[in-house]
Amino acid sequence: MRAWAVVETGQPLQEIELPTPEPKGAEVLLEVTHAGVCHSDLHIWEGEYDLGSRGKMRLTDRGVKLPLAMGHEIVGRVVKLGPEAEGQGSKVGDIRVVYPWVGCGKCAICQRDEENMCPSGRSLGVYQNGGYATHVLATHVKHLIDIEGLDPSLAATYACSGVTVYSAVNKLMPLEPDEPVVLVGAGGLGLNAIAILKAIGHRRICVVDVAEDKLAAAKQQGATDTVLASDEGTAQRIVEACGGPVAGVVDLVNGTQTARFAFEALRKGGKLVQVGLFGGEMTLPLPLMPIRALTVQGSYVGNVKELRALVDIAKQGKIPAIPIENQPQRNADAVLQRLRAGKITGRVVLVAG
Ligand SMILES: [Zn+2]
Ligand SMILES: [Zn+2]
Repeated sequence: MRAWAVVETGQPLQEIELPTPEPKGAEVLLEVTHAGVCHSDLHIWEGEYDLGSRGKMRLTDRGVKLPLAMGHEIVGRVVKLGPEAEGQGSKVGDIRVVYPWVGCGKCAICQRDEENMCPSGRSLGVYQNGGYATHVLATHVKHLIDIEGLDPSLAATYACSGVTVYSAVNKLMPLEPDEPVVLVGAGGLGLNAIAILKAIGHRRICVVDVAEDKLAAAKQQGATDTVLASDEGTAQRIVEACGGPVAGVVDLVNGTQTARFAFEALRKGGKLVQVGLFGGEMTLPLPLMPIRALTVQGSYVGNVKELRALVDIAKQGKIPAIPIENQPQRNADAVLQRLRAGKITGRVVLVAG
């Protein structure tokens, strides 16, 4: 198969030939038709996360091997089923979104279909080849989800940005529909989060970003309030926009500065859900945690059950589309550079051919 792969961290992606995998057991081989380019691909490509005063966490030390075809927002056409995958809902020719956050497949967590929490993660596009290639191997037929009636470019984004925000937003629920939910970051994740909140009936959505044009896109998508983030006074402006301290914030950036203002904007009993991988660190005033009964919770992608639920909501026509731009697969590197420069609103999806 052809792949547009990371051969060296931080260096341009290279078009290379890799062996086409042969599906064994319940595995399924698909021809990639669509692959979203996600912000987290930048971290994988750069090969490290910033852990603040603890330094950097290198992905190669965590088992990421090069060359690697990144890409974890994958839609493909089934071309070959492993012997145990027959008769389990997918056949040759079917178009499917592929659940990428797979684990060992054997432990109790994986058996419960909560593989994103497996201690031995083998995610597609991170620990094994993903969608920046002509073919991809799904590790189990149960990870394929029918997307009939949906735009495949949009459906691809549900596998990461969609399920990530769906799972994060669920961690704030239940809330009254008019209780403000604050979203920090109006990139692809933020726009998806607005769409999903509206789809589940939430009415008050406040979006925070450093860029006016991104806030305009958020308004377009249905944000009721927007706040321009800056060095000073952001928490106060959030509180003013929301009519008081807030019950829930989803921080889709999750850097030192955003974590600080997100935390400061919480009301008693409030919850900050941290999703982004921007990096840095946060200092918590410990007595405030019990006194104000606060929660700071991390949220990592979502499980296959959540992805199925999200695809169902989308099939009911409840999720408005986010802005999507299709680009040929061979432009993978150029797209990554644009994303790095912050020049993409919504999502770019690589398409085959
Ligand atoms: Zn992603
Ligand atoms: Zn496992």
